Amino acid sequence: MLEVRDLKVYYYTKKGVARAVDGVSFSLKRGESLGIAGESGCGKSTTGMAIMRLVERPGRIVGGEVLLDGTDVLKMDEESFRREVRWRRISMVFQGAMNSLTPVYTVYQHFKETLKAHGAYAGEEEAREITVKMLRMVSLPPEVADRYPHQLSGGQKQRVAIALALLLSPEYVIADEPTTALDVIVQAQIINLLKELQEKGMSIILISHDLGVISALSDKLLIMYAGKAVEYGSAEKVLRNPAHPYTKMLLEATPRVSGGELRWIPGSPPDLTNPPSGCRFHPRCPLAKEVCREEEPKMVEVENGHWAACHFT
Ligand code: SF4
Repeated sequence: MLEVRDLKVYYYTKKGVARAVDGVSFSLKRGESLGIAGESGCGKSTTGMAIMRLVERPGRIVGGEVLLDGTDVLKMDEESFRREVRWRRISMVFQGAMNSLTPVYTVYQHFKETLKAHGAYAGEEEAREITVKMLRMVSLPPEVADRYPHQLSGGQKQRVAIALALLLSPEYVIADEPTTALDVIVQAQIINLLKELQEKGMSIILISHDLGVISALSDKLLIMYAGKAVEYGSAEKVLRNPAHPYTKMLLEATPRVSGGELRWIPGSPPDLTNPPSGCRFHPRCPLAKEVCREEEPKMVEVENGHWAACHFT
């Protein structure tokens, strides 16, 4: 079980303190998948980086817990976390990962170097075997091992990036915008691949601005706005009965196969060094009332296993 409780990540900038993640909580059982959705800058990638303890200065994790089977990994010393948790139990496919493959390395060399970096390299023969096994896992043929990144398509590179993240058999994988910059057909292939991995027992946290991509894969959904969790619960319930005005607007802005009018969300997300008072969504919310400007709404359970933070749910 992975449990994130009241996580807070702040960035200490010259302009002021940006509360990028400000009290986010969720949990994920083994084999479950969670989608985190919201516009750019809402804190979804920072949440993933915080779980991996990879938030860089001027950012800092200032509060909360990340419990992995009951142990708060934020309290572990860096050496133990690196040795026991990062990549081994929780792994991440970073945004733009397919473009960060080293151009002068073949695919095999990427696997070999990653094994070496984690003290898991036991010779050329075994490393080759592992590479081919990992490539198979992401439906790539063995000959891809000897290709350079420039000889692969975008979808193949993304599969290699996912295979590298799976190399040490983690229990949880965080995939940050894994389908961005890929065409629709390849996007569907990557989503199917993630589904297959989930069916094999892997827990996946899928981060995307695209609710369409996320809803295809997730058991649970977390909707974030301006560093806050605004809605959370079973994906089926959140999608069938969205309780927060922002979620409703996000859904209306998501293209559907069935067609229907597409709307956009007017305005833009706030500056997190000076967020709006009360409900952070109030300047863009068509339902905002005086209380929304004055009081911050708390997360309340709107139905069994479904929560939202709005004064009027
Ligand atoms: Fe809109 Fe008010 Fe609900 Fe915020 S609390 S989402 S401003 S109605």
